[in-house]
Amino acid sequence: MKVYNSLTKKIEEFKPVDKNRVKMYTCGVTTYDDCHIGHGRSLYIFDVIRRYLEHKGFQVDFVRNITDIDDKIINRAREIGIGWKELSDRYIAGYKNDLKNLELMPAVFEPRATENIQEMIESVEKLIEKGYAYQTETGVYFQVRKMKGYGSLSGQKIDDMKDAVRINPDEKKKDPLDFALWKKSSDDEPGWMSPWGRGRPGWHIECSVMSQKYLKRDTLDIHGGGRDLIFPHHENECAQSIGLSGKKLANYWLHHGLLTIEGRKMSKSLGNFVTLSEIFKKYQANVLKIFYLQAHYSSSIDFSWEKMEEAKKAYGHIAILKDKLDNYLKDQGACAGKKLKAEVKLYLQEFNQAMDDDFNTSRGLAALFELISQANRKLAGDDKNKKDFLLSCRQVLGTISAIFGFTFSQNKISGITEKEINSLIAQRNQCRKNKQFQEADKIRGQLLDKGIILEDSKEGTIWRRK
Ligand SMILES: [Zn+2]
Repeated sequence: MKVYNSLTKKIEEFKPVDKNRVKMYTCGVTTYDDCHIGHGRSLYIFDVIRRYLEHKGFQVDFVRNITDIDDKIINRAREIGIGWKELSDRYIAGYKNDLKNLELMPAVFEPRATENIQEMIESVEKLIEKGYAYQTETGVYFQVRKMKGYGSLSGQKIDDMKDAVRINPDEKKKDPLDFALWKKSSDDEPGWMSPWGRGRPGWHIECSVMSQKYLKRDTLDIHGGGRDLIFPHHENECAQSIGLSGKKLANYWLHHGLLTIEGRKMSKSLGNFVTLSEIFKKYQANVLKIFYLQAHYSSSIDFSWEKMEEAKKAYGHIAILKDKLDNYLKDQGACAGKKLKAEVKLYLQEFNQAMDDDFNTSRGLAALFELISQANRKLAGDDKNKKDFLLSCRQVLGTISAIFGFTFSQNKISGITEKEINSLIAQRNQCRKNKQFQEADKIRGQLLDKGIILEDSKEGTIWRRK
């Protein structure tokens, strides 16, 4: 399996430290606003990567944090005139709701920054002791020039960075590039007691501390996040962690590309901000997932409502085939343990090859759609051995759908059970036999009202959801 490692800027063979176990950390949300579809991409793409690693047989220890204390939270709370905690709790609740709607696998740990303040204080003390950090009147700062190799993740030389960082107004800092590990709080700001007075942690130290605490290892296998986090956030995480343990923070850094809306940056001021909850009012999560999968995770992706409509159509092909197969094979039970037919296995192999190639989801998706066309052709034809072939199709469809996190529970039929559907179909067939076509059409209409579409073929009638 090969991955593009942003640390070395190379495609590399993926080898975790422990043969069968992967320790993976991704930077989560800062809870000061609603989650938008850019956050959704980040959450989903790492979910797919994790699921694929599990499919390959790894146990994945997956940690994703919540930044619930940050200047953005404090400032926003001031703007609307509520407490920072109230604001943060409100958006944590919204975030949890979005996670539920996205139907992602839960992280093994999802720590909040404010639950780990003591460990952050201890780490800052350690960095001071080791000579990497110093205190001023405004806080504690990491001295970047003390860290050999600072800038290697973002591929910059330290002397070229000056323009890239927002200059902190603290003139007591030894270098404008030095970043805050601990910020002293004024009386109206949130704060925790520390050796440097009442204050709060800087953003970067949160991730260095939580990743190592919850994954119990100095060097993780995978650290993930958005491309926009490489500098300064991830660069600073790297510097802190080397300062603390003497070892690098992660062997592989995976960065996803950013999301634009119809070619433009998403921003509130442009009025083109699309939140996840807005999406879920119109589409089920599977449709959004198809949209995300169409681009390689490391590329940027451009959103439009037309593309969502296309994704909806594409997802429809998957859902329809799933229904048809379930219906056609209903007496077959699961075929777990049964060997896959060689000609169907090819599609799974193509899918695996695509995903082994730095998680190429668009190629993986193409393999799935080829399988779907093939299965539809078989269903319509009258090949004698089609049952075995279709059983294999159903199994491969299930495997790929599980890795892409498609959930078919969302296609629930309202107000009718499968048993009732089948009994109505039997009644209708009886009517057709007796040439009571009006009666038969009435039953078809009755089912259509419940969202069930019937398709008649030589071998009988199968149904699917609208
Ligand atoms: Zn982070």
